[in-house]
Amino acid sequence: MVRYVYEFTEGGRDMAGLLGGKGANLAEMTRMGLPVPPGFTVTTGACRAFLTTGAEPDGLAREVSVHLTALEQAAGRRLGQPDDPLLLSVRSGARFSMPGMMETILDIGLGDDSVLGLAKTSGNERFAWDSYRRLVQMFGSTVMGVDSAVFEQAMTQLKDLRGAPDDLHLDAGDLAQLVETYKNLIKYETGEDFPQLPAEQLRRAVLAVFESWNGERARLYRRREHIPDDLGTAVNVQTMVFGNLGPDSGSGVAFTRDPATGARGVYGDYLSNAQGEDVVAGIRNTVPLDQLGRLNPEAFAQLRDHMRTLESHYRDLCDIEFTVERGKLWMLQTRVGKRTAEAAFAIAAELVDEDLITPDEGLARVSGDGLARLMFPRFDTAAVGQALAHGIPASPGAAVGAAVFDSAEAVRRAAAGEKVVLVRQETTPDDLPGMIAAQAVLTSRGGKTSHAAVVARGMGKVCVCGAEEITVDSQGRRFTVGDTTVEEGTVISVDGSEGAVYPGAARLVDSAVMRYFETGEASAGLVDAVARAMQQADGVRRLGVRANADTPEDAARARRFGAEGIGLCRTEHMFLGDRRQLVEAMILARTDTERERALDALLPLQRQDFIGILEAMDGLPVTIRLLDPPLHEFLPDRTELAVRLAAAEAHGNPPSAHDSELLDAVNRMHEENPMLGLRGVRLGLVAPGLVVMQVRAIAEAVVDRKRASGDPQAEIMVPLIDTVEELRLVREEVEQVLAEVSTESGVTVECPIGTMIELPRAALTAGRIAQEAQFFSFGTNDLTQTTWGFSRDDVEAAFFSAYLDKGIFKVSPFETIDREGVGRLVEIAVAEGRAARPGLKIGVCGEHGGDPDSVHFFHGAGLDYVSCSPFRVPVARLEAGRAAL
Ligand code: PEP
Ligand code: MG
Repeated sequence: MVRYVYEFTEGGRDMAGLLGGKGANLAEMTRMGLPVPPGFTVTTGACRAFLTTGAEPDGLAREVSVHLTALEQAAGRRLGQPDDPLLLSVRSGARFSMPGMMETILDIGLGDDSVLGLAKTSGNERFAWDSYRRLVQMFGSTVMGVDSAVFEQAMTQLKDLRGAPDDLHLDAGDLAQLVETYKNLIKYETGEDFPQLPAEQLRRAVLAVFESWNGERARLYRRREHIPDDLGTAVNVQTMVFGNLGPDSGSGVAFTRDPATGARGVYGDYLSNAQGEDVVAGIRNTVPLDQLGRLNPEAFAQLRDHMRTLESHYRDLCDIEFTVERGKLWMLQTRVGKRTAEAAFAIAAELVDEDLITPDEGLARVSGDGLARLMFPRFDTAAVGQALAHGIPASPGAAVGAAVFDSAEAVRRAAAGEKVVLVRQETTPDDLPGMIAAQAVLTSRGGKTSHAAVVARGMGKVCVCGAEEITVDSQGRRFTVGDTTVEEGTVISVDGSEGAVYPGAARLVDSAVMRYFETGEASAGLVDAVARAMQQADGVRRLGVRANADTPEDAARARRFGAEGIGLCRTEHMFLGDRRQLVEAMILARTDTERERALDALLPLQRQDFIGILEAMDGLPVTIRLLDPPLHEFLPDRTELAVRLAAAEAHGNPPSAHDSELLDAVNRMHEENPMLGLRGVRLGLVAPGLVVMQVRAIAEAVVDRKRASGDPQAEIMVPLIDTVEELRLVREEVEQVLAEVSTESGVTVECPIGTMIELPRAALTAGRIAQEAQFFSFGTNDLTQTTWGFSRDDVEAAFFSAYLDKGIFKVSPFETIDREGVGRLVEIAVAEGRAARPGLKIGVCGEHGGDPDSVHFFHGAGLDYVSCSPFRVPVARLEAGRAAL
């Protein structure tokens, strides 16, 4: 027989799946002997059973009744007892916190008789009627389905009649009258009376909380936060305690450390003569928690005591909700508290120092995403003042610009040199030019997977989305928040790391953490905490971390950031700028001599590139990839060229021989699907002389570095192979050049020759390929593109937001590795590659190499290293350490 109800005395913090987070922690505090109002939890299992069948699960009513009786016996009074009623709160509490998304009903048990009893026992008539008023209102709207506006209207009318500025100015008589009005409204709206039987109130309240799991708000929140829909919520039924019984009562929230900075101390807010709901709702202004020390020193001392107990018990920052009822402290909730990235690092370091957690546990408490956030410049928090609005922190960083309300305006102003923030209700693919032109994107609708969020993250652009407080009026070219109107052209500041929008130009401060990575100089506070987490990660990680870099400057930076080599040096970037002419000459060459001349001109330039990079990475491996992109990328755009020549001709200027040749070549080389066309190894096999020139440049750079007493560790990597035959042919050519240069120079040049695995066929035939390859590096960008059949250049803007909204995937597979599909190919290739060549060195150099979740996958898949952009190197180091825990 399944059990649906657990006393607080029976549960514990490890039972959050069954009892929900709140229930499990109430049970934990009860077991620790903290003053928790007694109660019990109806399990998530009961909720699931109810939601599946639509009926109250068999046996639930009996179980509730048994536990209620026990509660009544312990309290010495019955639920709703007319002369001295026991009253209950009924609160939702799911496995994962869903703040404010589901229902709460307070003061269950009150009725026409017991309200008088409560008035007498409390000695406070107004309080009794106000409690009853709250119950009828909450029950009427939540359980009986009456529109809450109906009650609010009745309240407003009465206040107007009495000339009362707020509810506090309504007296007991007024509230009694309001209860009558509410009851009549319920009868009128539903045809039913407000139930007077306490047991019926309780039963219906519990079922209403179950139902609220599937309310619109809750469903939306779960989708945004990736919380599964089938968990259900638990329901906590607890003896009411009252913070609104007079000046010696009150409610508050407290943190055992500052959740913003991690600083030790007592943080929180307190509201005298108020219920917890009033604190959260922000109806009245709270006072800082330490003022409780003045108002009620005894309760404050107890609270501090309990905070210390909780922190050493949970071994983490706890947040707490409490109530003081006539001087007595009651603990209503605790949980391991949310915190900023800065606080996460600071708290982890402090808890290690306090011997509360081990250094490994400290490492588990921080994250690569948090570290990435700390590496961006941010606004000077002391100077920003009050935020204009808050939204979802969709893409980190801080940016300042003039608000603009459409894409065209963003482009126009940006072209004129102005910095702009594109503000939209939500973005569509049509907004793309504006997003590119803007410093930041702000939307009033949509979550982390909305179009704006996905595209902004892809571009590394600051984005806050779903800032629901703002109303965007694109026609009127303004947005409003409450009474504030922001017209087009007004400067605003957007903090994509915190999800906040500020008026005016907030002052930017550099990231101290970034400075630490740049200089290696640790200092106290946050930087020290980060340095220690990095040290711990480096000590435990098995995965190596390299960088994708193709200039000496990037290589040097990557090294400062802790890269242990270059995993991908893309040589195509070296063919741009002034060198385009030479590449063009090579492509247009009509004779071998012309081609050789062009290649000969490129050779010393390439050699110099490699010398610089090998020097910056002296002693560490540098994987140099042979040219990968289609050659026409180095020629002018086909349409632009055709238009230019046609226009010139129309003005009587026939194209020069060179221009005609160029157009012919561009037309000849045009491909409908260049990403699947003449690129990668295919290029090396059909463009004469290209591989020889590149390999010679590498080999001669190695000779140069060796002669300068350096320790060059070049590795040569062949891109985009499908079959071992391609690799075999290129490898022969490479080896021949290496041998030639060795002979010519008298310096032995030995470079491992490996390949990228970035096509499904290569992954599936990795065993054969490994016979020819001395190392593998997964190109997960192309592997994702070709496995899914998604164009990596187009899909993110074209339809990914729709796919994310429909839940087809939760995150772009170009951002986080698709373990099931692409990941499976990786696993096959690792297994077969190593079976054919034991000890085969394997890395990854696609964008996924710097993505936290993907790093954990690559660790599990047994790769030797990940390679990512220099700025992601610290993130990858940290996550590689966390993956090894
Ligand atoms: C890849 O495909 O993952 C890769 C690293 O190569 P590129 O991004 O240059 O195609
Ligand atoms: Mg690739």
